Amino acid sequence: MSETVAVRVTLFWASVQHGKPDECWPWLGYLEKDGYGQFFWEGRMRPAHELALTFTTGETRAQGLDTCHSCNNPLCCNPGHLRFDTRASNVADARAAGTIFGRTGKLSETDLATIRTRLAHGARQQDLADQYGVSNSLISMIKTGRRHAA
Ligand SMILES: [Zn+2]
Repeated sequence: MSETVAVRVTLFWASVQHGKPDECWPWLGYLEKDGYGQFFWEGRMRPAHELALTFTTGETRAQGLDTCHSCNNPLCCNPGHLRFDTRASNVADARAAGTIFGRTGKLSETDLATIRTRLAHGARQQDLADQYGVSNSLISMIKTGRRHAA
């Protein structure tokens, strides 16, 4: 990371009100009319919550994916509440409902496609495993292209 980039990242986090790990971390900086935080990055204004996730995990948002909040708080920049996912995804809902979704490794075709896309954009295996409630080794298998046993 170049020095300029490091300074920009520091500036970014200075605009986030850090709370406890489980709490929402509201964005204190510039707000766009749509109610989302914005930060100037690499030549254009970008959603603050998207950058919070990228700066923390190193993963960039793939085209077609949204930066989703598990807390439904548009201003929240706690990376633990954020994930890149399809708009239609109900992963968080499924997990909240305590379904057997993860344990049996039954990921939908959409989930598999999303996971592969996110891996290609730098997602960490452990983050994906946590978010989908599956094992790290399953994510590893998806990465190498081996289909998991149903
Ligand atoms: Zn939150």
